[in-house]
Amino acid sequence: MVLEKLGSSIYETLKKIFGATVIDEHIVKELVRGLQRALLQADVNVRLVLELSKRIEERALKEKIPPGIPRKEHITKIVYEEFVRLLGEKPVSLNITPGKRNVFMLVGIQGSGKTTTAAKLARYFQKRGYKTALICADTFRAGALAQLSQLAAQINVPIYGDEKEKNPVKIALDGLRKFERYDIVIVDTAGRHKDEKSLIEEMKILQKEIKPDEIIMVIDGTIGQQAAIQAKAFHEATPLGSIIVAKLDGSARGGGALSAVAATGAPIKFIGTGEKIDDLEVFDPPRFVGRLLGMGDLRSLIEKVREAELKIPEKRAKAILSGKFTLSDMYEQFEAIRSMGPFSRILKMIPGLGYELPEDLIDVAEERLKKWRVIIQSMTPEEREKPQIINSSRMRRIARGSGTSERDVKDLLKQYKMLRRMMKTLRRKRFPFFGRKIAY
Ligand code: GDP
Ligand code: MG
Repeated sequence: MVLEKLGSSIYETLKKIFGATVIDEHIVKELVRGLQRALLQADVNVRLVLELSKRIEERALKEKIPPGIPRKEHITKIVYEEFVRLLGEKPVSLNITPGKRNVFMLVGIQGSGKTTTAAKLARYFQKRGYKTALICADTFRAGALAQLSQLAAQINVPIYGDEKEKNPVKIALDGLRKFERYDIVIVDTAGRHKDEKSLIEEMKILQKEIKPDEIIMVIDGTIGQQAAIQAKAFHEATPLGSIIVAKLDGSARGGGALSAVAATGAPIKFIGTGEKIDDLEVFDPPRFVGRLLGMGDLRSLIEKVREAELKIPEKRAKAILSGKFTLSDMYEQFEAIRSMGPFSRILKMIPGLGYELPEDLIDVAEERLKKWRVIIQSMTPEEREKPQIINSSRMRRIARGSGTSERDVKDLLKQYKMLRRMMKTLRRKRFPFFGRKIAY
């Protein structure tokens, strides 16, 4: 959907990071430049781009990496967290107080999608069992009432308007009296006037007179840089409670929406994804960011990383990096990987990996991992701590005990030695990376 282009270019940049063996200042700077390019291309406001990228760069270079977490994953996490900081972590809904009437007023310039969105919202709440009504307070655009009436008729929601009345405040107040006993009333307003000043003035007066519970700004997702300017103008006149971004179904890159959020601090609560009345989605920031970065379900990946952080105690990690790496450690690594769920799913969540590994390779890796676990289980504690004592007669015993062959046991020991060697190299580079590469 939206932002795919933006997503793919950020993804390309991150992929570079994931392909690098050593992450140093140079690579971090390259990532930040790539991010900047991608965001600017998507019409995100220049100042916002600079702010975001500065924070990412600073954190990526300065923050202490938790033991056991590869630096690249840590950087991905930082990038993700900085977007989430801007957009929020969880979907936020419109505030609805039960047992009273809740009035929402839609603002935004002509053509942004207000009238359509008013009907979509009415539909959304009607489906959830709220007694909902619409008011058309757009006295500027010819046929405004007819447009909303037609939409309202489709969903059987009552509407109030007055073609002859020229004062939007009077219409809104009359409508509100009529819909006294409703749960939710949505007020649609004008988007154009003789000039912008008089439009903003009208919104101010409307707000003062009808006292809506929340003002929602509808932004056209395709307008780019303009979004921040518009949002700011409306926000200064009437404090915005939330933003709905319409038209995110086409080729819109939607960076403007990001800028609008930054300019006003108002959260995005819904997105419009089509012209039909049901084309309204609750805005889910992490999913949006995941898509934005072209990484699939980034939220789950981050959760797994957090879990893994907890799983490897720092002391242990230090011991391993200082050269003590036994089969027991290796076994723990297997367990950590296993507890993350099916291998194929984990791999898919790791950016730059899941997209490329063929299914059968994943299966093979998973099979091997299973075998190795059983083999280590069949060893004595002493063998696990000092694998060098495993001679051919022990090997035979272990193979029998685990229902595998001696070749499998040898295979495991070979893998173990390789890993241990890797750990030693890592220690020299001070690059805490283990666990991930074990299985293939
Ligand atoms: P208003 O002037 O702000 O009230 O905007 P309208 O609701 O009249 O919408 C302007 C145009 O945008 C209409 O042709 C709508 O059908 C279209 N539109 C509104 N929302 C969406 C959306 O989410 N997706 C698409 N594709 N079109 C939309
Ligand atoms: Mg309209």
